[in-house]
Amino acid sequence: MELSYQAIKTSKQAREADEMRTEARRRSLLVLIFNYLIDEGYVDTAGALEQETNLGLRRFEVCDNVDLDTIIMEYESYYFIKFQKYPKLTKRLPEIGDSRSARICGKKRTPCTVTQTLPRINSIQRPASKGGLKKTESKMAIRDTDKDSGVRECMSSTHETAEFGLNVSPIMRNGVAEEAQVKRGHLIDYRGLIQDAIKGAACNATNGLNCNPEPSERLLKPLSAFSGMNSEMRELATVISRDIYLHNPNVRWDDIIGLEDAKRLVKEAVVYPIKYPQLFTGILSPWKGLLLFGPPGTGKTLLAKAVATECNTTFFNISTSTIVSKWRGDSEKLVRVLFELARYHAPSTIFLDELESVMSQRGIGQGGEHEGSRRMKTELLVQMDGLAHSDDLVFVLAASNLPWELDHGMLRRLDKRILVGLPSEAARQAMIAHWLPPLSNSGGVELLTQLDYSLLAQEMEGYSGSDVKLACKEAAMRPVRKIFDALENHQEGNSKMPVIQLDTVTTTDFLDVLAHTKPSVRNLTEKYMAWEREYQSV
Ligand code: ADP
Repeated sequence: MELSYQAIKTSKQAREADEMRTEARRRSLLVLIFNYLIDEGYVDTAGALEQETNLGLRRFEVCDNVDLDTIIMEYESYYFIKFQKYPKLTKRLPEIGDSRSARICGKKRTPCTVTQTLPRINSIQRPASKGGLKKTESKMAIRDTDKDSGVRECMSSTHETAEFGLNVSPIMRNGVAEEAQVKRGHLIDYRGLIQDAIKGAACNATNGLNCNPEPSERLLKPLSAFSGMNSEMRELATVISRDIYLHNPNVRWDDIIGLEDAKRLVKEAVVYPIKYPQLFTGILSPWKGLLLFGPPGTGKTLLAKAVATECNTTFFNISTSTIVSKWRGDSEKLVRVLFELARYHAPSTIFLDELESVMSQRGIGQGGEHEGSRRMKTELLVQMDGLAHSDDLVFVLAASNLPWELDHGMLRRLDKRILVGLPSEAARQAMIAHWLPPLSNSGGVELLTQLDYSLLAQEMEGYSGSDVKLACKEAAMRPVRKIFDALENHQEGNSKMPVIQLDTVTTTDFLDVLAHTKPSVRNLTEKYMAWEREYQSV
């Protein structure tokens, strides 16, 4: 009898100790999170956490040598030793819009595993139709397979309105899916197209299905910790922050055809100093500014996007409209905040597109220059000077189509000036072959081409990259236009619709297109060359 009293007492004590440990762990976790939020600058969130928990989190301190980072690092090391790989701690949930990609569309169902980052996330109420879900959305059923993951499956597809495009591969007939007659000989059964349009079975999002994409989004430090700024400056910082690329623009160096010299110089000036900082010290200290100049449509913006893709810097894509704020005279302050913010988020790249529209030569223009504009330019020069005399990892990349209009003070501060010229014959040939290969499939329509690439490249002397692309698009459009005519002239109920055939795009067609699509910048080439001779710095 005495023994069982003892046993009951011991087990009660053990249970209480266990409960206390759990309680202490939960509190420690909250203190660790609170501490982490403060360290990372999420001050408002930390305040909200403190208020919500009502635990007076500020009264506690995290012990020496411990923080969430360390704990996770140690967990990773432990996991690595145990399993020879690092643990995957979070997975991305597909956004509501992504569910379109899992529509049936007459194809095999595409199940998509969704691992929930939060336990019991299903109990969290989400807005029912956020993200513009229309009636065209498939009805979804979510089935949990285990505690931490769910399999999302399309159970039925009830399209009521039609989204019509050229994405014609799957055709629904009598509820049964058939492959469209998009054969190699590029026969297009546009009866299927029409039915497709009526039934709304377009499934053009399938290719975009990405249940577990690379974490390509940039995690920025919160603005609440942007110190030394009053509320007005913080408001301006919010305006500038909208121009920060949060998503990777996904332009690789290989996507840029030709421009080998420009690519090499840009890499040398912007990418390598960040990748190999130990090489860029002393006299080799990195450049602070680079100007890409040349005719429009030659790939200057593309180069900037490649920089944003390839280097892991905070990329500010600044257009004139962001800093030219005429009605409030804020331009000067905006420039200051832009550079402050770039330092705050360093390493950063500030891309100033169409620089001539913000930095034209001072004092030029009818009736003299506006005072606000002059102050803004001076501020930009001051900020550039500040960069030159600091070790901040902030780089200015500028692009201009009219370099001769640029302020000389600004030119001096852009230490590298690189001509991004019209594509060479070899580059033009590569571009045509890239955009119009012998067999191409543009979103479901197969196009056949029979082109003498070398001849066409010769004929396209003076065309810029975007001109070449435009001509290719026009050439590809010609055979496709025939489908539009047939579709437009089709009367409902008429089941006798002939199967039409997409014509092959031939060299003659292309030459005909060229007769009507002229290059946009040919007569300025000399002027760029002359300016390059005088100002280039490579
Ligand atoms: P800009 O020099 O005016 O900034 P862009 O970089 O915006 O020109 O180029 C416009 C478009 O032209 C690009 O989106 C791309 O499709 C095409 N283009 C121009 N040059 C090239 C190139 N060298 N390689 C591939 N595409 C190019």
